[in-house]
Amino acid sequence: MRLIDLAVRQALRSRCRYRVGALIVAGNRVLAWSPNIPRNSPTVDYSHATFHAEEAVLRRVQNASGAVAYIARVNRSGETLLARPCPRCQQALAAAGVAKARYTTGPMTTDIMSFY
Ligand SMILES: [Zn+2]
Repeated sequence: MRLIDLAVRQALRSRCRYRVGALIVAGNRVLAWSPNIPRNSPTVDYSHATFHAEEAVLRRVQNASGAVAYIARVNRSGETLLARPCPRCQQALAAAGVAKARYTTGPMTTDIMSFY
């Protein structure tokens, strides 16, 4: 199975309105995986806010230096959509030492961005 397909599998687990999943891979090892996570608070209306999948997955790794992130987004039918990391996540990935991110761009297509 392709690594991007494992990111798709994480996206399919998401309970958010926009369903995104991410993996952190170093060499041949998958270090961590996560869908995006609803961010609910009893006092603040965060009804549409989430921990982005990239943020959620970075919390689960000790050392992402030189790793590759795989990020996927799916629609209700489970088809992949554009999952380009937002500026804040790009910054978080780069700060964690992630070398590059491969993300879905549509059904069956991906693109890659480098952080250095
Ligand atoms: Zn983001």
